[in-house]
Amino acid sequence: MIQTAFLGDVVLTTPLLQALRDRFPKAYLAALVIPGTREILAGHPSLDDVLVYDKKGRDRGWRGLVSAARRLREKRFDRCLIPHRSFRSALLVFMAGIPVRIGFVQSLGSFLYTQRVRRDSSRHEVRRNLQLMGPLSPGDSVDSAAAAGKLWVSSDQEDRDWANRRLAEFGIQENDRLIAIAPGSVWATKRWIPEGFAAVVDDLIANQKRKVVLLGSRDDLPVVDEIVARCREKPLNLAGKTSLRQLAGVLKRCELLITNDNGAMHVGVAQDLPIVAVFGSTTLGLGYGPFTSKAAVVERPLDCRPCGKHGYPECPLGHFNCMKQIAPSEVLAAVKRLCSEY
Ligand code: SF4
Repeated sequence: MIQTAFLGDVVLTTPLLQALRDRFPKAYLAALVIPGTREILAGHPSLDDVLVYDKKGRDRGWRGLVSAARRLREKRFDRCLIPHRSFRSALLVFMAGIPVRIGFVQSLGSFLYTQRVRRDSSRHEVRRNLQLMGPLSPGDSVDSAAAAGKLWVSSDQEDRDWANRRLAEFGIQENDRLIAIAPGSVWATKRWIPEGFAAVVDDLIANQKRKVVLLGSRDDLPVVDEIVARCREKPLNLAGKTSLRQLAGVLKRCELLITNDNGAMHVGVAQDLPIVAVFGSTTLGLGYGPFTSKAAVVERPLDCRPCGKHGYPECPLGHFNCMKQIAPSEVLAAVKRLCSEY
């Protein structure tokens, strides 16, 4: 299986790995990902190996592609599923000489595949990925596989111990009720406003008797720092201070995750956490919503949504009403409801 996109894309392929293992219990099964997402699949119970294609580092450019294809060829794979729709991924498996190459019709390199599947854009991404099982298991239902499928992010006792130590250093004890917030996103139009998050933090700490931890990558630091600066009650800020596995370890300790439409949301689902997700320029219809029944999505029914598949550095219409119109009270009401239900 090849998925060399971002964190969330890799997490959303994990039910496909599970389905592959169920269908081929004795096969040697490997996933090829970028270095930044390798750790979340290492130890996946369905995988024999996690391979790395460092397309922005040592495997950069044409020479790097040839070298990565040679490494794949040496493994003598019989079949490959390619959820990633880039031309480069299609070219890589073609050059690796893998005899059966199954990918989406909509891939830029679909002419290099031996079998093509029409990606159903109306379905959730987990189900779209499972569609790739079709040529290997004709007649099997995507919905049954999705119902049995669970998102997975590797983390172990060491990651949980690390989380417990860090939380204890900041006075958060095991019996404290802890809520995580992941306020980042690569795209500005997918980020709820900092004053909104700050108001939620203040209410959770002052009125709901919760502790709050802010999470994110190093790239999210400016956004997280701005939220912290606006808070009257101070949350614990672990943004940029965890590996992905440690992030999962911290989430394991939490009661609930409040998040934007981002990769951390899928990591939270993989930890079986209730999710309150704030959606702005993207919609559930794009297929990347929280893959769990324990979720509440807070959003505005505006005609301009979605304004793009991913997001933009700023609102194309200038008003950013999809996020500005969401009140902290709505997010807090969703938190209260999910906390009482789960
Ligand atoms: S155009 Fe609409 S959906 Fe897109 S960012 Fe602006 S308000 Fe949000």
